Amino acid sequence: MSPIREVLRRFGLFKEQGFSRVIITREVINSILDLGRDTYPREVMMFLGGRANSGVLRIDRLLFQPYEASPESAYARINFPLLTKPMGSFHSHPRGINRPSDADLRLFSKYPGVHLIISYPFRMQDIAAYDHNGERLGFEVAEK
Ligand SMILES: [Zn+2]
Repeated sequence: MSPIREVLRRFGLFKEQGFSRVIITREVINSILDLGRDTYPREVMMFLGGRANSGVLRIDRLLFQPYEASPESAYARINFPLLTKPMGSFHSHPRGINRPSDADLRLFSKYPGVHLIISYPFRMQDIAAYDHNGERLGFEVAEK
């Protein structure tokens, strides 16, 4: 993305075109599966790092922000360094289904990219991906 588009986007003035492909590395997927199980019965919440290029979004790392979590919700104190731009988020739904809540949709709308929700029992098929409007997205898993 060009620098001027980047500035427009930061201020919410750039109309997002969406992504034609979302690719997530196997390492990130495995971490998400593990984190869902390791933090159960609480929610886990993290942000996703990666890059967007020509409509292809590639997620290759997790970004941690401190958060408070219960079985029903997670709240992050978001304070990223200026040059760290999250490309989405990930959180778990320890009970219930992997559809976004109203609070989830508000969070999604702040970060263009891909937003993952994983529900109990935290298997590959329990991961759902959404765009910043809360529309369901498909994604591919890359081995590296
Ligand atoms: Zn949620």
